[in-house]
Amino acid sequence: ESVVNRIAAGEVVQRPSSAVKELVENSLDAGATSISVVVKDGGLKLIQVSDNGHGIRHEDLPILCERHTTSKLSTFEDLQTIKSMGFRGEALASMTYVGHVTVTTITEGQLHGYRVSYRDGVMEHEPRPCAAVKGTQIMVENLFYNMIARRKNLQNSNDDYPKIVDLISRFAIHYINVSFSCRKHGAKRADVHTVSAISSLEAIRNVYGVTVARDLMEITLSDDNPARSVFNMNGFISNANYIAKKTTMVLFINDRLVECTALKRAIEVVYSATLPKASKPFIYMSIKLPPEHVDVNIHPTKREVSLLNQESIVDSIQNAIESKLMSSNT
Ligand code: ADP
Ligand code: MG
Repeated sequence: ESVVNRIAAGEVVQRPSSAVKELVENSLDAGATSISVVVKDGGLKLIQVSDNGHGIRHEDLPILCERHTTSKLSTFEDLQTIKSMGFRGEALASMTYVGHVTVTTITEGQLHGYRVSYRDGVMEHEPRPCAAVKGTQIMVENLFYNMIARRKNLQNSNDDYPKIVDLISRFAIHYINVSFSCRKHGAKRADVHTVSAISSLEAIRNVYGVTVARDLMEITLSDDNPARSVFNMNGFISNANYIAKKTTMVLFINDRLVECTALKRAIEVVYSATLPKASKPFIYMSIKLPPEHVDVNIHPTKREVSLLNQESIVDSIQNAIESKLMSSNT
């Protein structure tokens, strides 16, 4: 059974950056306004995510890392919503099968916090009282210690740290009221450090720099034609002055950071068809639609999504971008 669990866990947590994504999402779900990430050896030695969210109750600690015991289930009535939000209660459990997880947490009004370590879904010892400031800190050490090939592959390939920095940068431009930091263990300087911004554009300027921000245009679109799906979109897209070899597409659907390859390709097509110089675009886009219209279950890491009425949504976004580019390019 433990081999099966480990293999399943390795599907949910594929690389250090996927563990960081799950941990940061949990911090956001806990209402954190400050999230800091510390990484050692590209995340293979240590991933530490600290937040100032609502913490985890003492009585929830024994089952915290069991599979499918998400506390979020009680707040969502229907299974469809749970599925589409990706609330599956698998992330922390999975991490305990492929790494050593230690949780330190304190809830509102408590005099002290608790610290507890987990292995293979269960507590290694009773929670120990400890000093703690508001919120939760989760440490994942020695990720993939029991998956020798995976560890080797990751050691030989590029360090995951740049991916982690990229991930935190993306969260920072969407969650503008949250301050994020991301640093290597022992480093004095953080590689991402944001304080709350007044707009996504300001956040983009802080994170990606003025040379990106100055070439962006705001775009919004709402479509409430019931024959299609009900959705709205807003964001920033690069104009004709922006030059890059690679597309940057930061996509949030219902406040979840996701990938939608079909949409990304469609946008690239608009850019190469509309702009004389064939530059790849910078896109930050936030889409809101009914949660039951988002299917997150086509990939175990939950990143790639497909949408109900995807073609018509992609079409209208293409049209909106095309007219924006045409009107700015004359
Ligand atoms: P899910 O997020 O799908 O519920 P996870 O395995 O990611 O499942 O997390 C399990 C549970 O642990 C969450 O539902 C939440 O109750 C709790 N939890 C995890 N991280 C935090 C955190 N940083 N702050 C508060 N609660 C947390
Ligand atoms: Mg989670």
